Amino acid sequence: MRRVWHVPLPAAASPARREAITAALLARLRARLPAGDGAAPAPLLVVHRADWHLAQGLDGAVAAVARAAGGGVVAADLAPAVDPAVCGGCGLCVTFCEQGAVAHDGRVARVDPDRCRACGDCATECYLRALRFPDASGAELRRRLSAAAAAAAGRLAGRLGIVLMVGDPADAPAGREAPRSRHRRPALPPLGLLAGHDPAAVDAALADLLRREGWRRPAARVPGAAPPAPWPDDPGGWEIVTLPPETFPG
Ligand code: SF4
Ligand code: SF4
Repeated sequence: MRRVWHVPLPAAASPARREAITAALLARLRARLPAGDGAAPAPLLVVHRADWHLAQGLDGAVAAVARAAGGGVVAADLAPAVDPAVCGGCGLCVTFCEQGAVAHDGRVARVDPDRCRACGDCATECYLRALRFPDASGAELRRRLSAAAAAAAGRLAGRLGIVLMVGDPADAPAGREAPRSRHRRPALPPLGLLAGHDPAAVDAALADLLRREGWRRPAARVPGAAPPAPWPDDPGGWEIVTLPPETFPG
């Protein structure tokens, strides 16, 4: 049975308190990792703020682990291209790209595929629909993220620790503030922290908690675009163990 720990955090918890509990959860996960023998892969510990992206869907443990394990490789060749005949040169896409992947020559925008993470913010923002994705539905990106996360989990079996922060982005601990993207609204409800060793189980637990909260998925914002990613498949064989915040120091 794969275990997912859930620490509900009171809305009034200070950033320092959240940081202390996150660190304690990571220490708890680390304590379960086997000692390295030099030949074994190094542990991978991932801390991520889960949210809902209006183009990509749930951005949880699978996406975080895939990115941490595979860097930008998962998005290689999936960057959008600007149609110069349509682009009006407004620069909105430059403003909203958190990766600094869009440049502007004063007339049209251009995407640097080496920096792009295929998040979809620019395409969602462009009122002229001048940005086109080779993977318009996002299905290929999600397939690659899942494959990269599964490979990392297998390669790091017993050496992977994940802590997801789920709640109001404004409450994120220092250094992990909300991105400025408008496409990550509405934020997920303040569920607190989720921790575990298996990214698929952590995301399934997150989806389960969201369902229990009655949270509804918002629709995609781009007219004609595919709906955001579905809830993660339930991999089965996992349980949520609730740890009250008072059991942590700080
Ligand atoms: S938002 Fe659209 S129209 Fe504006 S610069 Fe970017 S691609 Fe061109
Ligand atoms: S898809 Fe995302 S990362 Fe890529 S250029 Fe657009 S905003 Fe930047």
